[in-house]
Amino acid sequence: MEEILEMEMSHPHYDVVVIGGGAAGLMAAGTAAKVGNKVLLLEKMEKPARKVRITGKGRCNLTNARPVEEFGENVRTNAEWLNVAMSEFTNRSTMRFFERMGVKLVTERGERVFPASGKAADIANALEFYCRDYDVEIQCNSRVTEILVADGKVYGLKYMNKRGFVRKIEVANVIIATGGVSYPATGSTGDGYTFADRVGHKIEDVRPSLTPLVSNHPQIEYIKDVWLKNINARLFVAGEMVREEFGEMSFSDRGLEGAVILRLSRDAVDALLEEKSVKIELDLKPALTEDILRERIKREVAEMRPEDFFAELVRRLVPKPLVVPICKELDVHSRLYISKVSDKEFERLIKVLKGWSFPISDYAPFQYAVVTAGGVSCSEVNEYTMESLKIKGMYFAGEVLDVDANTGGYNLQIAFSTGHLAGLLKK
Ligand SMILES: Cc1cc2nc3c(=O)[nH]c(=O)nc-3n(C[C@H](O)[C@H](O)[C@H](O)COP(=O)(O)OP(=O)(O)OC[C@H]3O[C@@H](n4cnc5c(N)ncnc54)[C@H](O)[C@@H]3O)c2cc1C
Repeated sequence: MEEILEMEMSHPHYDVVVIGGGAAGLMAAGTAAKVGNKVLLLEKMEKPARKVRITGKGRCNLTNARPVEEFGENVRTNAEWLNVAMSEFTNRSTMRFFERMGVKLVTERGERVFPASGKAADIANALEFYCRDYDVEIQCNSRVTEILVADGKVYGLKYMNKRGFVRKIEVANVIIATGGVSYPATGSTGDGYTFADRVGHKIEDVRPSLTPLVSNHPQIEYIKDVWLKNINARLFVAGEMVREEFGEMSFSDRGLEGAVILRLSRDAVDALLEEKSVKIELDLKPALTEDILRERIKREVAEMRPEDFFAELVRRLVPKPLVVPICKELDVHSRLYISKVSDKEFERLIKVLKGWSFPISDYAPFQYAVVTAGGVSCSEVNEYTMESLKIKGMYFAGEVLDVDANTGGYNLQIAFSTGHLAGLLKK
C-alpha cells in the first residue's frame, strides 16, 4: 500500500486552476491564460485530451458548419441556456481557432467538420499547444480530490500526484471541466459531480446518451457486424412513434448502433428508465412506397425462374447477411421455390422491408456511450460566465454540465464554447 502524505506545497500563486484537460478544460485554460491569468491545469491521466484523440473514430468531428441558429435543434438539453456560450464562441470561432493553430479543416456530409489530416490527434495537440503558448502549467497524473470552500467561496483544492502524495493549493478560482462518465477509461469518471454535489449543487440524473440499444430479437445474433446505409429508423415508445432518423446503422455485439440509432438512443434510454415499452422499426427501403416496392417485387419475380428460391428474391432486395434472418422473420423457408410463395407471404415481405421491428430491452452502459446526459444543473450556473450561482470562484465547462447533443460535432462545440466562456473569467 502506497504511503499517502498530506503536505502544504509552496506552489506559485495561480489565479485559476482548471480541473481536467479534455476539450473543455484545455480551451478554458488557454483562454484564461490568454486574458491574463496565471493558470494551472491538473489532469489525472498521463496526458491530456485522451477522449479527443478517439473522437469521430479517430478523426474528430470537431464541430458542425450548419448555421448556428440550427444548433438548438441538435442540442438535446438546455439548448437555450447554452445560447450565450454558443454565440460568444460559435462554430465559426472553432473553425477559425483551429485553422489559426495550423490545422487544415474539411467539411463533409451533414456539414460535419474534421481535420483534413483525418487525425484527431491534431486537434488534441493544437489545444495543448494553445495552452503552452500562453504559459499554462499543465500537470498530468494529478487527480483533484477536493475543492476547498468556505463562506460560499473557493479558497483552494487538494490533489493527489502520481506518487500518491496529497498536495494542497490555495486558489480563488477553479474551473471544473472533468467531463461526464462515458468512456471512463479516458479519465472521465464523474469526479466533477461529486465536487458540485458536496457544495450543494443539484445534479440532474446522469444516464448514457448516444449509446447502442440492446434488442432481444431472435434474429439479432445472426446479423452481427452488418452495416446498413440509407435506412430510416423509427423509435416507438409505448406504441407511439416519437422520432425518426435517416442514415446509417449497424448491428454489433452491443446491439443496434451507428449514427441513426445513437441519435434515437437519447429518447430510448429515458423511456426505458421510465419502464415504457420501446421498439425500433427499420425501413430498409425508405425511397420506395409500399406500392412501388410491390411493383418492384413483381418485376423481380417475373425475371426469375419458377425453381429459383425465395432467398434469391430477398437477396435482390437487401444485403446478403440479412437474407436468412429476413426469411426466418417471415417464417418462409429460404429454399422455397419462388413459384410456391403465396401472395400473403409477399405482403409480409413488404411489411418487413418497410418496418422490421426490433423490441429494445436495454441500452449499452456508460463505457460505450458517446456522451453523458444529465449532470450539474444549469439552473444553478450563470449562463453568462459559467460561474456557480452558489459558490463564488467555482466555474463549470463541458460535459460535466447537464448539456448533451446529437452526433455531428455538437458535443465538442459545446465543450469549446463553454470552456471558452469559463476561461474569460476576471481575476
Ligand atoms: C468514442 C467517442 C467519440 C466521440 N466523438 C465525437 C465527435 O466526433 N464529435 C463530437 O462533437 N463529440 C464526440 N464525442 C463527445 C465528446 O468527445 C465529449 O462530449 C467531449 O470530449 C467532452 O469534453 P470535456 O472536456 O467536457 O470532457 P472530457 O473530454 O471527458 O475531459 C475531462 C477530463 O477531465 C479529467 N479529469 C476527470 N476527473 C479529474 C480529476 N478529479 N482531476 C483531474 N482531472 C480529471 C479526465 O481525465 C479528462 O481528461 C465523442 C465521445 C466518445 C466517447
